[in-house]
Amino acid sequence: MRDLPAPAGSDLVVERPEGLYCPPGDFFLDPWRPVERAVITHAHADHARRGHASYLASAPSAGVLRARLGADIALHTLAWGEVVEHRGVRVSLHPAGHVLGAAGRGVRRD
Ligand SMILES: [Zn+2]
Repeated sequence: MRDLPAPAGSDLVVERPEGLYCPPGDFFLDPWRPVERAVITHAHADHARRGHASYLASAPSAGVLRARLGADIALHTLAWGEVVEHRGVRVSLHPAGHVLGAAGRGVRRD
């Protein structure tokens, strides 16, 4: 997994008991406890866990995620490089070359 570094002193991503959290976007990155909104980088068990209310992941990872976590998960997918904005924070996923669908993530706020 490759992450784009947040600027020094940024509160764009902080650590919470549930996992890495983006306060302005109100979502978590690969959280280890159930949350409302989870951005999932890939389908390995240490990154993609059951119990989140909604998942955002790369389109190529959708099949593996549904097979692992259930066909009925609330899964939203992004094509590589596609940008989605949530509460003023832009999220994009980029191929990480780890397993099928594995993504590095971009989290940006202007
Ligand atoms: Zn992995």
